[in-house]
Amino acid sequence: MTATTGTTTVSAYAAPSAKAPLERTTVPRRPVGASDVLIDIKYAGICHSDIHQARDGWGEGIFPMVPGHEIAGVVTEVGPAVTRFAVGDRVGVGCMVDSCRECVNCEAGLEQYCLEGNVGTYNALDRNGEPTYGGYSTHIVVDEAFTVRIPDGLALDVAAPLLCAGITTYSPLAHWNAGPGKKVAVVGLGGLGHMAVKIAHAMGAEVTVLSQSLRKKDDGLKLGADHYYATSDESTFEQLRASFDLIVSTVSAPLPLDKYLGLLRTDGAMVNVGAPEEPVSLNLFSVIAGRKTLAGSGIGGIQETQEMLDFCAEHGLGAEIELIDADRINEAYERVLASDVRYRFVIDASTI
Ligand SMILES: [Zn+2]
Ligand SMILES: [Zn+2]
Repeated sequence: MTATTGTTTVSAYAAPSAKAPLERTTVPRRPVGASDVLIDIKYAGICHSDIHQARDGWGEGIFPMVPGHEIAGVVTEVGPAVTRFAVGDRVGVGCMVDSCRECVNCEAGLEQYCLEGNVGTYNALDRNGEPTYGGYSTHIVVDEAFTVRIPDGLALDVAAPLLCAGITTYSPLAHWNAGPGKKVAVVGLGGLGHMAVKIAHAMGAEVTVLSQSLRKKDDGLKLGADHYYATSDESTFEQLRASFDLIVSTVSAPLPLDKYLGLLRTDGAMVNVGAPEEPVSLNLFSVIAGRKTLAGSGIGGIQETQEMLDFCAEHGLGAEIELIDADRINEAYERVLASDVRYRFVIDASTI
């Protein structure tokens, strides 16, 4: 890290243009402002959405792009107005680094749904119009209001993926009251799905995994699932008809929604945290019969992210990870696309 007039230059891995492999480079970090903390990044998770964005699957990206919104590290400097953090604190940063802080959603702690749009941790412009760079980097400067504390009981490497995969599944499970006496189905056992299983189980729900095949059944049961079914087997949909209070779908492939809605009990909800790039079709009778809800959910607010980390620490929940050096990021991307990871790649930032 080199400093010049307040702005620092730090090492990072970036995609220089859409679809180009990531390579080592440097990016600027802003001076530590009054309410900012400077974080020495220790670990950064690789989220499927990093690949979408680096490869422009979600529309025009901002390049060079430093992905990474599952960040765990240690505070090394604090601005003069910072009150919640001190040098040496273990902290995390997730999918957003700012919001308007004034709208009805920000006031309610739902910064992820800020009416002016939250500022993404990367592939976004901050409120001064400067591009944001994510966690595949050695350091980041973030406002303390968008920084969360990683409890001592959680190791930083397995905590990193909680900042996206953990909160994205915790938020709908908490909102729709997963808990004792509730039957919850998790669709897909990947990065998000494996955390959904762990968290729903820790909340006390009866958990069923619905996966394409039974290939990961042993893992699913070890992670806390009570039951495991293959969706490629048509009899699954007959057998499990009207079974669940809540279905959390973590897959981004288009699903036959009418079939899945048939698995809900009356008043049940199916919540999508993964989304296909194309619009989907639905027969509305699938929700009319049984007063069912088809919903979506995106990450979680800052307060809720802290609550999730505290919950995970209390229950000893971290992500299942494969730790890699930064020079293997491109290879890891290919393996994520091939669903060949159990269950999250995490970059050791000391190798960046
Ligand atoms: Zn993510
Ligand atoms: Zn707002």
